Amino acid sequence: MNKPLPLATPTSEPFWEGLRAGEVRLQRCNACDRWIFYPRSNCPGCLSRDLAWSTVSGLGQLHAFTISRTPTAVFFTDEVPQKLAVIELDEGVRLTTTLVGVEESAIEIGMRVEPVFEPTDGGEGVLLRYRPTA
Ligand SMILES: [Zn+2]
Repeated sequence: MNKPLPLATPTSEPFWEGLRAGEVRLQRCNACDRWIFYPRSNCPGCLSRDLAWSTVSGLGQLHAFTISRTPTAVFFTDEVPQKLAVIELDEGVRLTTTLVGVEESAIEIGMRVEPVFEPTDGGEGVLLRYRPTA
C-alpha cells in the first residue's frame, strides 16, 4: 500500500530539497533573527517577508513523545507501534516526527537526538526521522 507523502509547496520546497541532500534546512528571519519551522512566507514573530534558508545541524532534544499501538491511519499498519515525537532543535523550533532505531524503554524526554534521512518507499523523496545521538 502506498503511503501518503508530504506535498512540497513553493514555500516548503527548499526544506524537502535539503532532506534529499542529507541536510536539515530552516528558515530564519533577516529582520528579527528568529528561526522558523514550519516553512512560511512571513515571519510568525514580526511578519517580515525577508526570510532566508540556512542549513543547520539538525541536532536537538526530545521534547515529547507517545507510542501509538494502533495505526494512526491504515497506511501505517506496518509501522506499529509508532514512536511519535516532537523534537526541539537546538535553534529552538519544534517539529513532529517519528523516532527510529530506539527501544521504547530507552526513550527519555530531553535525550539528545540526531536526524535520520529516510528515503520514501518509491525513492522519490526523503522523510526526516530522528534517533538518539550515538
Ligand atoms: Zn521576524
